[in-house]
Amino acid sequence: MKKLLLLLSFFLSIIFIASSQSLRKLHNKAILADTHNDILSSAVLDGIDISNRVKEGHSDLVRWKEGGLDVQFFSVWTGEKARNKEGFYKDAEQEIDALSILVLKNPDRITLARDYKEVKKGIRQDKLVALIGVEGGHMIEDDMDKLQALYNQGMRYMTLTWNNSTSWATSAKDETSFSFEGQGETKRKGLTSFGKQVVKRMNELGIIVDLSHVGEQTFYDAIATVTKPVMLSHSSVWSICPVFRNVKDEQIKAVAKNGGVICINFYSGFIDSNFAKKMDELEGTKGKQIKDSLQQYYDAAKMNEIWRQRFSAELEPFRPTLAQMVDHIDHIVKLVGDDYVGIGSDYDGVSSLPKGLEDVTTYPKITEELLRRGYSKKSVYKILGGNVMRVMKANFR
Ligand SMILES: [Zn+2]
Repeated sequence: MKKLLLLLSFFLSIIFIASSQSLRKLHNKAILADTHNDILSSAVLDGIDISNRVKEGHSDLVRWKEGGLDVQFFSVWTGEKARNKEGFYKDAEQEIDALSILVLKNPDRITLARDYKEVKKGIRQDKLVALIGVEGGHMIEDDMDKLQALYNQGMRYMTLTWNNSTSWATSAKDETSFSFEGQGETKRKGLTSFGKQVVKRMNELGIIVDLSHVGEQTFYDAIATVTKPVMLSHSSVWSICPVFRNVKDEQIKAVAKNGGVICINFYSGFIDSNFAKKMDELEGTKGKQIKDSLQQYYDAAKMNEIWRQRFSAELEPFRPTLAQMVDHIDHIVKLVGDDYVGIGSDYDGVSSLPKGLEDVTTYPKITEELLRRGYSKKSVYKILGGNVMRVMKANFR
């Protein structure tokens, strides 16, 4: 009996090794594209060299290779307040320079692509293909020449807004906030006529119009203005997790009609509304109560340190799972088919990730989960990167 069990476990382990090898083969054969990563703002700009394995953060060149990543849009980001006294545009240039240095230092491992041919060439050469995505229309500083200048420097998508609205487009954050209604007078939502010109010019130049972060009115105004497929570089599904940054079913249908793609954001708070609720609680009254109780015993620095630990410990049990992230992919596929969904992790831009998706080495687990759910090889290829490739091809000159 013991012998039989040993023999059985031997065969099972052979099957396991064979199937994990074929999974890896399929994963490597697929073009894997991730349309949003914030490593430039979170590390590279501070001088951290991601050519080698880095302990902190979610990404570096070594781990991208392990995860089987082929194409990465690097987010060029700056917040509501500019870092440089010269303003937002200068901030964008600084981040683009930081990416250029990384590429110059590692010419055999990473290449910057400016058109579809260069994307394909980089993949063939087994390099990580880097593309520039500017996260927030405020970086063009209301100036069409700066849009052109950023295009010249390699920008291939631009989200019309980040959380802050521009003078020509309103953000999801503003469109959903109560204060936006103003003093008895409702402010204008959506795209202004200059905003529509920006969108048209982006399409002419070959910059993908990215509708992550924009408000619903801006979304529909943009969809009605574009002449090419749009992208949502890092947004998840509202009907599973109703938070302001996620997209509603009607929006998903509009993207499908446009031939665009929605790339799922992994952030725990956009995957599971229980996590989002807990987070709100901790940032609100409950958090204040805890902080007040700590204040009696510790100075400000110590209190902040303890609070940070407590904060993540409180949130830990609410972290969603990889399977819950894949539920968002499933939802879009069931609603409109498998041509309109992709991966837009937001690695190095988020404070919490689902269990199983801790860093960029975990991409193969997504492939595994999709196969486990019965997705065909063809569908898996589309979801991992094929759909994003199609949208790039349709947009780039
Ligand atoms: Zn973002």
